[in-house]
Amino acid sequence: MIQNPEQYLITAGGKICCRRCKAQSSRTKLQCSKPALKGKAVCQFHGGYSTGPKSKEGKDRIRAAHFKHGEETLEAKAERSEKSLMFRYLNDLGNHCNLFYKQLKTQGRPPSGYTKLDLTDPEQLVLAILKTIPSK
Ligand SMILES: [Zn+2]
Repeated sequence: MIQNPEQYLITAGGKICCRRCKAQSSRTKLQCSKPALKGKAVCQFHGGYSTGPKSKEGKDRIRAAHFKHGEETLEAKAERSEKSLMFRYLNDLGNHCNLFYKQLKTQGRPPSGYTKLDLTDPEQLVLAILKTIPSK
């Protein structure tokens, strides 16, 4: 990466001032001396025309190459949401039974799928207890 790439390039005998391609040569370590494409930061030889992969294989390859940890996969998000929902109902039950020394308030928006239950009603109390049991 070039520390301070030259931003502009004067071409056509000093008549045209345009953006300079910010790519760095891997061989000479110098900044590319071509003008950048309109609205882009690089020239056509350094990816200015590229709009990303189009085929399914190409998209899959990029997706696999950018996969870093799996913390944000759909499965991980669903699992986290389910745990958050269980915790919310456990918190409601604890507050209802005076399990804590004071009423605990959960912060933030309620998790998806959460509906405030009236725990004085036995049916809804049982429903809240059932929702704290893990599905697997
Ligand atoms: Zn270039």
